[in-house]
Amino acid sequence: MRILLSNDDGISAPGIQILAESIRQFAQVQIVAPDRNCSGSSNALTLEMPVKIQRLGNGDISVRGTPTDCVYLGVNSLMVPRPDIVVSGINAGPNLGDDVIYSGTVAAAMEGRHLGLPALAVSLNGERHFDTAAIITSQLLRGLQQEPLRTGRILNVNVPDLPIEEIKGFKVTRCGRRHPADRVICQQDPRGNDLYWIGPPGDKDDFGEGTDFAAVEQGYVSITPLQVDLTAYAAQDVINQWLSQVKVT
Ligand code: MN
Repeated sequence: MRILLSNDDGISAPGIQILAESIRQFAQVQIVAPDRNCSGSSNALTLEMPVKIQRLGNGDISVRGTPTDCVYLGVNSLMVPRPDIVVSGINAGPNLGDDVIYSGTVAAAMEGRHLGLPALAVSLNGERHFDTAAIITSQLLRGLQQEPLRTGRILNVNVPDLPIEEIKGFKVTRCGRRHPADRVICQQDPRGNDLYWIGPPGDKDDFGEGTDFAAVEQGYVSITPLQVDLTAYAAQDVINQWLSQVKVT
């Protein structure tokens, strides 16, 4: 099994390094990851400048670009032969509910999927037990080695921040939802200019049974199959009716 491993926290983040060590025991792994933290970069591509890469002494490839750049370049050029699967993570912090829209971790997996490969995004609901998430990811990958999953979907995996013996099992979930984020942090630089920081994500809103929030909260590994088609099919008729009274000219 040939795995392209990327992330959005940057190549030196503990999550990606711990995961690489764990999955190298049974797979060929090529790390292609951003040279810095790109959390919240979503599916951004670098189009207006060249993307510089650096091959590190240990074989990892550091990219001055986004997570999506990393997977695009990794699959199409840097990893020869091409990988069998794209894995992204382990992210420091959860990617639950609406987080998947902003997440560079999920975006890296999404790019793998766009390029026709199975893809896994893995996040830890905290920053302590990366080893737990590494074991879980290894188990999932071993499972895929034995029996490929033919859903054609991205798997968004969120692992509770607990020791492995306290993990209760897996739950297949749907995305919950957060309240809107509304905090803006304003500071001043030493020259008196205003600086703004985007605040933390909103609190969980829809976190009922069946959601990713609920599973992780209860000590289960949440696995949400994701698709990219955001079309609200149910709204198409309503919009058609409404458009009948809107003039084109
Ligand atoms: Mn991140």
